[in-house]
Amino acid sequence: MSIISDSLKRIKPSPTIAVTQKARELRAAGKDVIGLGAGEPDFDTPDNIKKAAIKAIKSGDTKYTAVDGTPALKKAIIRKFKRENKLNFSLDQITVGTGGKQVLYNTFMATLNKGDEVIIPAPFWVSYPDMVLLAGGKPKIVKCTEQDGFKLTAQKLKKAITKKTKWLILNSPSNPTGAGYSKKEIQDLAKVLVRKKKIFILSDDIYEHVRYDNFKFFTIAQLPKLKERTLTMNGVSKSYAMTGWRIGYAAGPTDIIKAIRKIQSQSTSNPSSISQAAAVEALNGNQGFIKKRANAFKKRRNFVVKSLNAIKGITCLTPNGAFYVFPSCKRLLNKKTKFKTDTDFVKKLLEKSNVAVVQGSAFGLDGFFRISYATSMKNLKKAMDRIKAFCESLI
Ligand code: PLP
Repeated sequence: MSIISDSLKRIKPSPTIAVTQKARELRAAGKDVIGLGAGEPDFDTPDNIKKAAIKAIKSGDTKYTAVDGTPALKKAIIRKFKRENKLNFSLDQITVGTGGKQVLYNTFMATLNKGDEVIIPAPFWVSYPDMVLLAGGKPKIVKCTEQDGFKLTAQKLKKAITKKTKWLILNSPSNPTGAGYSKKEIQDLAKVLVRKKKIFILSDDIYEHVRYDNFKFFTIAQLPKLKERTLTMNGVSKSYAMTGWRIGYAAGPTDIIKAIRKIQSQSTSNPSSISQAAAVEALNGNQGFIKKRANAFKKRRNFVVKSLNAIKGITCLTPNGAFYVFPSCKRLLNKKTKFKTDTDFVKKLLEKSNVAVVQGSAFGLDGFFRISYATSMKNLKKAMDRIKAFCESLI
């Protein structure tokens, strides 16, 4: 009999972390690998935020805090929602966790019973289905096409809903495609959801502040009819280049927030007191960093999209957010190349050309791959040259 639990057997390790680890190992073995797998901004955390953390250490903010966040951070989060999303919340509608990842995990643990379904539009962030499985729920994957900009349509949503549907996950701008939903697209989905009163919506807004081309961010809780059934998750990881600090948060119905606190109280307790103090400064302090960084990302996005579309066999949409592109390699999956799947393509690309990307199937949609352009222009130029040479050697 295995010591490992049945629930753990239902899940697999994160494929994106696996690719990053593989690239790290190859590099350690002396190979000149360019890693385009990581979902992490390459910018450093802004100085004002670092200073707030140092001040917190020096002034003795080094003890346990309230389990789901200090009042100071919760107040900063309330102000953020009001300022940026025109949403009003009270303190008991806010929870803070060790990264958005913990908030999501706790949410599913707190709300799913065996067999409850969670609608997950694909391509999806790799952790959603596994978190749902771990909590005993059933991921209901809905494939979204390139023609639909990789976004869920009202028609597909309607078809996916059953009596067992408990949650719909929306992630805009999206990991892995960078696609952002417009207000109109969200309103279309909402028309279906207002009639289905038992379904809750989990809006993962972690890439809210990484967007381009005047894309107007809209989050579903802004629709009054759905606000009381929506949990809006966000965090400082991507917005303020704070992935290592591990602060994420959510706002929504008090019964869910209370249940999350209960789980947290019996597992990790509070997120780091120092990181919380830093997050207060991130949310309340100067926001200039966001714009400066978006400009740099935009240059890279434009370069990467243009370079990929100039490669024979590859096509790539222009996303309006996040720091990913999701090009198609379908035309390179054939008898001549001997590639059956995107995984074959990605494996050979790493072996032959030392470029690490992640196969689309890891995100629930075959025939694509994800590139993270959160790396220097120098690396991107080198990587694009290598991908071009690799693809053209196949034809
Ligand atoms: N949601 C999405 C879509 C993500 O891409 C990530 C991180 O990669 C997270 C949530 C979690 O971020 P964190 O735990 O760093 O707050």
